[in-house]
Amino acid sequence: MSTIDWAARAADLRPDGRALIDGRRVEAADGQTFAKHSPIDNRLLGAVVRGQAADIDAAVRAARTAFDDRRWAGKAPAVRKKILQRFSEKILAAKEELALLETLDMGKPIQYALSVDVPSTARCIAWYAEAVDKIYDEIAPTPDSALALITREAMGVIGAIVPWNYPMIMAAWKLGPALAAGNSVVLKPSEKSPYTALRLAELAIEAGIPPGVFNVVPGFGHEAGEALALHMEVDAIGFTGSTRVGRRMLDYAGRSNLKRVYNELGGKSAFLVFDDFKDLGRAARTVAGSMFFNQGESCNAPSRVLVHESVAEEFVGLIAAEAPKYAPGDPLNPATELGALVDETQMKTVLGYIDAGHADGGRCVAGGQRARAETGGFYVEPTVFDGIRNDMKIAREEIFGPVMSIIRFKDEAEALQLANSSSYGLQASVWSDNINRAHRVARALRAGTVHVNQYDEDDITVPFGGYKQSGNGRDKSLHAFDKYTELKTTWIRI
Ligand code: NAD
Repeated sequence: MSTIDWAARAADLRPDGRALIDGRRVEAADGQTFAKHSPIDNRLLGAVVRGQAADIDAAVRAARTAFDDRRWAGKAPAVRKKILQRFSEKILAAKEELALLETLDMGKPIQYALSVDVPSTARCIAWYAEAVDKIYDEIAPTPDSALALITREAMGVIGAIVPWNYPMIMAAWKLGPALAAGNSVVLKPSEKSPYTALRLAELAIEAGIPPGVFNVVPGFGHEAGEALALHMEVDAIGFTGSTRVGRRMLDYAGRSNLKRVYNELGGKSAFLVFDDFKDLGRAARTVAGSMFFNQGESCNAPSRVLVHESVAEEFVGLIAAEAPKYAPGDPLNPATELGALVDETQMKTVLGYIDAGHADGGRCVAGGQRARAETGGFYVEPTVFDGIRNDMKIAREEIFGPVMSIIRFKDEAEALQLANSSSYGLQASVWSDNINRAHRVARALRAGTVHVNQYDEDDITVPFGGYKQSGNGRDKSLHAFDKYTELKTTWIRI
């Protein structure tokens, strides 16, 4: 456990909220800023640039110029690889600073910012760096008279719009493949968590990524975000966020230049526990750990727990005993497991869902209250509802907070019907000691990722994304290159 006095370090921190455009820190063209507070105690962290269309335009022009003059795309893949590897090393070297910024910005426990967010961000950049000089193009099977080359080319200017729940990791999932492939990027972080993206861009420049290749403009969605998604010189948008805003991304593309839109959206993931699964204790520990990780503010949180009626009583008891182990605490204390929700609005939304759970007749078996109100911060207890039906509000809608719904089923057919009765399809998990059932159910689940007898494995090597209204395209793995490259066919007469 870390012995650093994080509170003392936090008191000394003066984060820089200026945009980073064309290699320089700049104020907004019209000088506008917004005040950014920490959800830990509602303390003011600083003033952050409130980017408008003019700031986005300056960033996109810088990115376009950098792409057109080939200062990055024109470098040999092995050279881009070295620079990106240096970028990754600089992220690791700045681990404590980045972790502290992330915790102050959005309230996650410092132990996880240190052990998950920073290393995953660095690994993502390093992994795409290592991949970039190992990807070969293709030659098509053609008649003797011709040769057809199928090559991948960088797409141009990528607009990346990301959420606040994993600010650095979500940025890295766009930056890694987009930069490795030779594109320029304009990143719009969430207004709720702008600081680490800005530091990442500084570190990228220190590592040797040329000015203009990676720009960051903070601001609000309906201002900077909309301007970026509507910009005629942006070739693709890599969006991660809510399904509501993902719909808008498609509309912006239709109203502008038909730019590619890759949406990574919300979820309401099902966790199915069958009566033939013996180690219910492990299943309970896993679902609680995954549900309450990051305060439940994870797109893939297993928020719908479907359990066979014959083991439901025992399983509910096990989860109700697990939940209090995730009592909210000071995110700057290295022992804390569950931190603050991102802001007051999010806390009120989550408490509203808890009210809806009660009103619909759910039985709250753990938590259910605001916590640590005396700090001025925004904390909610880990909460578990039993007796939920799949048509209730808390089972249908993404809550994005530490609230789990338990739904009982009588057989496999009903379990599958319930699991797939959702507008989302991000992840799912099946727990069974019967290998045939595990395979059968995993195949029938309509989700981008299915876990069998676990939920906690994840790696940059595998694709991440959703079916249905959880999105399109995939982040991570070599498949992510598809989003940020164009395929070109060149016919040559021979
Ligand atoms: P959000 O949709 O409110 O905001 C996401 C980003 O879009 C922010 O940068 C925001 O400023 C911007 N934005 C908002 N309105 C906009 C508009 N009108 N035009 C352009 N940009 C706009 O989402 P959020 O609350 O920041 O994040 C939570 C959501 O993200 C959840 O639904 C969660 O499931 C989802 N998420 C999905 C994944 C995934 O990989 N599928 C990962 C993390 C989070």
